[in-house]
Amino acid sequence: MNANKFQILAATGNPGKIKELKELLADLPVELLNLKDFPGVREVEETGSTFAENAALKAKGYARQTGLYALADDSGLEVSALGGAPGVYSARYAGENAGEREKIEKLLEEISGAKSDNRSARFVCAMAIAAPDGEIIFLAEERCEGAIAFAARGANGFGYDPVFIPSGFDKTFGELPDEIKRKISHRALASIKIIRYLRDFIDI
Ligand code: IMP
Repeated sequence: MNANKFQILAATGNPGKIKELKELLADLPVELLNLKDFPGVREVEETGSTFAENAALKAKGYARQTGLYALADDSGLEVSALGGAPGVYSARYAGENAGEREKIEKLLEEISGAKSDNRSARFVCAMAIAAPDGEIIFLAEERCEGAIAFAARGANGFGYDPVFIPSGFDKTFGELPDEIKRKISHRALASIKIIRYLRDFIDI
């Protein structure tokens, strides 16, 4: 570990999120650890009913267990025709062990079954920072509006990216280059607020 840098635990083991958070926070003089660096920590249950509640639960739980500042992201997809589902259940939508392709298939089936022409959807991202004692010191929530494609397209990103067409584009996040997602995504917008807060907090 680098002793000169402020250490923050990115409270996730999701490789897609770790990659994006590393890129988004690249300009900050912080060392971003993640849950793979702490194999002994117990998983914090996401029992909240909102993204913000779950982000706070994860930040608090992992900060207390590791004694580090922890940054947690809770995110997901809200589809209008499904009344906001899968929402906070986005990761487990097709069951605990389902792969990304199965989640996408289930989503497309549910939307066609909903008998609505409305394809609008949004990604939502809540990010919370907890101090080592578990106190939540900052929380930001942002969204990225768009629509659900009729079939998966492209292999960039992760999760539902191959079926999400951000507003103003005609390609999915799976097809668009990473630089675009880094500018306009729910996680990118929440990261801007996190960066602003951390710059003040660590006084740089
Ligand atoms: P959680 O925040 O760990 O509960 O998981 C959120 C889930 O929402 C992920 O596993 C993905 O399925 C989905 N998700 C969140 N953000 C994104 C994104 O940027 N692209 C695609 N899917 C996402």
